Amino acid sequence: MKNEFKRRDFISTCFKAGAACCAVAYCPVIAAQDPAKKQDVKIDPKDFEYCGYKCPADCPLKKGTLENNLELKKKAYADFKFKEKYGIDFDAEKVFCYGCKVKEGTPLSLPVKSCTVRTCVIDKGYECCIQCDGLAKCDKELWTNFPKFKETVIEMQKKYKAV
Ligand code: SF4
Ligand code: SF4
Repeated sequence: MKNEFKRRDFISTCFKAGAACCAVAYCPVIAAQDPAKKQDVKIDPKDFEYCGYKCPADCPLKKGTLENNLELKKKAYADFKFKEKYGIDFDAEKVFCYGCKVKEGTPLSLPVKSCTVRTCVIDKGYECCIQCDGLAKCDKELWTNFPKFKETVIEMQKKYKAV
């Protein structure tokens, strides 16, 4: 299928791109949660993060935060390129994430805080980019860095709008 999301392609693109917003950068999981592959699944924007991703349970940054696990946080610090992207040395207090779509008052991680897609979706009053008519032409860094992911989200949007 032309637009089917390919896990291997996405992993490869992620690490080649070397820059992304959050767990999307960690990406090995997104294919498994790709609802665009399932013909009969009803797409609900509330079920996804703002970009259309779904933070995985085994994300080392989120897991390390919730379990207060230093080793996982160190792994996430390296995998998510905190030094390169945010210029900080490892500090367990700064290397954390509770997720992207969180309750008001929950601290936002550095990757989530810096995400331009998240800010844009919130400003527009949407739950997810699949509700936005400008998605196909949107040139936010997330989409230009991860074109395969964008294709997947566009497929999700088609299914969402078809209902
Ligand atoms: S909207 Fe941004 S911070 Fe949230 S999951 Fe997507 S890429 Fe990550
Ligand atoms: S313009 Fe639309 S597609 Fe682009 S980030 Fe904002 S809500 Fe998402």
